Amino acid sequence: MSRVYLNLGSNMGDSFYYLLNAISKLDKLDMTKVTKVSKFYKTKAWGYKEQNDFINCCVELETKLLPYKLLSEINNIELSLNRIREVHWGPRTIDIDIIFYDNLRIESEKLTVPHKYYKQRNFVLVPLLDIIWDKKQIIKYIDKNSFSELKEYEYSKKIGISACLLGYNVKYNGGNNYTKLYAQTLKLDYLKICPETFGGLSILRVPSEIKGDKVFSKRGEDLSEEFKIGAIKTLERLKKYGVDIIVMKSKSPSCGYGKVYDGTFTEKLIEGNGRTVEFLLENNIKIISY
Ligand code: ATP
Ligand code: CA
Ligand code: CA
Repeated sequence: MSRVYLNLGSNMGDSFYYLLNAISKLDKLDMTKVTKVSKFYKTKAWGYKEQNDFINCCVELETKLLPYKLLSEINNIELSLNRIREVHWGPRTIDIDIIFYDNLRIESEKLTVPHKYYKQRNFVLVPLLDIIWDKKQIIKYIDKNSFSELKEYEYSKKIGISACLLGYNVKYNGGNNYTKLYAQTLKLDYLKICPETFGGLSILRVPSEIKGDKVFSKRGEDLSEEFKIGAIKTLERLKKYGVDIIVMKSKSPSCGYGKVYDGTFTEKLIEGNGRTVEFLLENNIKIISY
């Protein structure tokens, strides 16, 4: 396993959503785990100044992906989050830079590690200090004079999340989808939801899948109504607490985003959204799929 430090930044759209989404996608990469996340910081733009403030953070990864493979996966994540390359150092939904990759030194056209400018950037150094073991190596470069350009940023709203991801036993088989990233590493103010239990389905239940415009249990019962109620109750709950970002368990007939099972109970995935996700998207809730 290699240990990697990344810096993430965003200053377009809902920056906190983009950062959280990027962190989730990094954690889902093959042979890769996000092991630490720094605090979030609001920072003044660097280089090209005529733009909104950034939100920045650093993350630590453990990965078996080699540097160039990791770089290309990072580029894919940036592209999937609407990153458009226009002005260099200009506004962007998400920017992910590799700061360190173990103790490697790489200098090529595509990749420079350690990152070329990290010593000159408080928005890299200060978050790094939150998570890096060897703080002495970092602290000496921090520019105390421009410290005021960087402020701790606390997201003030709750983040919705599928309860199973936090380890609650609400899956159809009585189990959960415990995910360390959310349950331990990212300490956010969560609002737990489970559309299927909200819809009145019991915790031990027969699995169900979407088929056309209906949802059926494996025994053939039509559960469309329960799934519809689950979606409505989820939205009500989000609205009540002013939540507009939610982390949803992938592939599920209520929480899946982009892909769901095809209705044959044979583990085949097709394009589509779970019932609750579909309804939340119509109501401008931002989805992160895990
Ligand atoms: P800066 O590198 O000064 O922060 P930037 O992040 O705005 O600028 P980008 O347009 O995101 O620059 O990246 C340009 C290219 O930099 C990328 O296509 C990538 O190949 C290259 N690059 C070189 N070293 C790194 C690194 N350590 N991490 C990420 N990209 C890098
Ligand atoms: Ca950058
Ligand atoms: Ca970059």
